[in-house]
Amino acid sequence: MEPSPADVDVLVVGAGITGLYQLYRAREAGFTVVLLEAGGGVGGTWYWNRYPGARFDSESYTYGYLFSKELFDEWEWQEHFAGQPETERYLNHVVDRFDLRRHIRFDAPVTAAVWDETSATWVVTTGDGGEIRARFLVAATGVLSVPYLPDVPGREDFRGTQHHTARWPAEPVDFTGKRVAVIGTSSSGVQVVPTILDDVEHVTVYQRTANWCTPLNNRPITPEEQAELRAGFEALRETLNTSLSGFAHPVNERAAFDDSEAERRALYETLWNSPGFMKLTSNYYDLLFNEAANDEWCAFIAEKIRGIVRDPETAERLIPRDHRFGGKRPPFVNGYFEAFNDPKVSLVDLRETPIVRVTETGIETTDGVRDFDIIVWATGFDFGTGALSRMGIRGRDGLRLTEHWADGPTTFLGLQTRGFPNFFFPGGPHAAAGNNPRYNGDLVDIVTDTLLYATEHGYDVIEVSEEAEARWTRMVDKGAAVTTFGTIGQYVGSNIPGKPRRYLLNTGGRLKLFEISAAVVADDYRAYEMSKVPVVR
Ligand SMILES: Cc1cc2nc3c(=O)[nH]c(=O)nc-3n(C[C@H](O)[C@H](O)[C@H](O)COP(=O)(O)OP(=O)(O)OC[C@H]3O[C@@H](n4cnc5c(N)ncnc54)[C@H](O)[C@@H]3O)c2cc1C
Repeated sequence: MEPSPADVDVLVVGAGITGLYQLYRAREAGFTVVLLEAGGGVGGTWYWNRYPGARFDSESYTYGYLFSKELFDEWEWQEHFAGQPETERYLNHVVDRFDLRRHIRFDAPVTAAVWDETSATWVVTTGDGGEIRARFLVAATGVLSVPYLPDVPGREDFRGTQHHTARWPAEPVDFTGKRVAVIGTSSSGVQVVPTILDDVEHVTVYQRTANWCTPLNNRPITPEEQAELRAGFEALRETLNTSLSGFAHPVNERAAFDDSEAERRALYETLWNSPGFMKLTSNYYDLLFNEAANDEWCAFIAEKIRGIVRDPETAERLIPRDHRFGGKRPPFVNGYFEAFNDPKVSLVDLRETPIVRVTETGIETTDGVRDFDIIVWATGFDFGTGALSRMGIRGRDGLRLTEHWADGPTTFLGLQTRGFPNFFFPGGPHAAAGNNPRYNGDLVDIVTDTLLYATEHGYDVIEVSEEAEARWTRMVDKGAAVTTFGTIGQYVGSNIPGKPRRYLLNTGGRLKLFEISAAVVADDYRAYEMSKVPVVR
């Protein structure tokens, strides 16, 4: 049988901030591009997560795109940390401004993607049975795009309203006078609680793992700040393009115990009152490697929690015991701990009284039943590999990605894996560890440059070498082993029953990404095996 020609050069999957940038870059580079998106609109994370209180903890202007000064100038973010509606509007604006919408097919979940050796193309199938052949497949399917719902008996029996935060409906949910359960106290759950507090009759917070929440300290961007942002665009872009975390925060070059106790205390107070991620990025540089330094910062936060929460028993339950700061994704939010001083809020510690089942009217724990009108499942995601492992990907010789990664992902730059030629996954496992759009933007640039190199040199097949993949994966594993902060949760897959415990972030950070990707170019792309095949076009 004659091999079929490709329908398109580049097939992008996912209309989040990463996929949209990939679409833009590939089209500008002269490739034909189609983008397939499972959802009905643009935005990825910011399309799906419509729950009350959903917002950035990256500064808005450091999260948005930097490739166009005109775009930066014309979009005025309203707050230092924008809420979901504003970000969704922004991404739609980008799509229309750069005329990207005509390349996007919505409601088009990819259900299978199979590598066809003879034609060196990917044959991609969508939910409606449609098929499209592409030379290059780029899955920008996100690390936090597959919600996780714990397997609690009786969930379907509940007669009230229930939603996962990451599948929140577009129509607002009315919390007025309602008895609400919020299950989960990671980044989403802790945003929901203070946001709905004024409306509800009562909210019961079900906590499995207490988290090191610190204040986001959000506020509107003043006209003077808007002007400064515009005037400082080039400097900001330079800072963000070179920053190791992808944030624009000042880096602290001191180790914790370089300073006296009084100096440390003063810094902790300053950080507590600083915006968002500065508690991590501008903290002592050894925070994540020196147990004593981390313990002292945690003790400071614990003291704050005890100072805020009036009931001492509740305060103790809200203080994490099983991980240090950074061992789990720290939430940044104002008003969460304060909410527990309101008689309308109660805390159920699931370590003491686990959930037995959901009933028709509420939730039963080992302590009895509570009735609710609304259940909010803030139970997180199948992080890192969730979307890729559900896409039906088969590489050389029919190898399934899920088999290849049965013990956890192996990658080069968090971008490619051997046995799956012409397949890239910017923003996937091992890819980022900071302000995501900056890391993911770097990866999209790497993909685009690699495709251009291959095309200019007449290569049809790009496959990462075994050695390059093994080296990057070793680097990730080694980085995970030397940190002392006791990682738990989604970063290592421990929130999903049966998932292999492998570290899923880029432990080398952006520094390693810059270093290795520059070496690839300097070494004339020898990290890849590139070849020609007789392709019919
Ligand atoms: C509530 C929340 C707040 C966050 N805040 C921040 C923050 O402040 N700073 C930060 O750096 N990061 C934050 N993140 C992480 C966030 O996921 C990234 O910043 C960023 O949005 C990732 O973009 P992406 O395009 O890579 O993936 P996503 O935005 O997740 O987009 C992936 C898209 O792929 C689609 N898709 C997946 N599988 C398929 C398939 N098989 N077929 C078709 N389409 C598919 C999905 O529907 C989705 O639309 C947050 C995450 C959440 C959930």
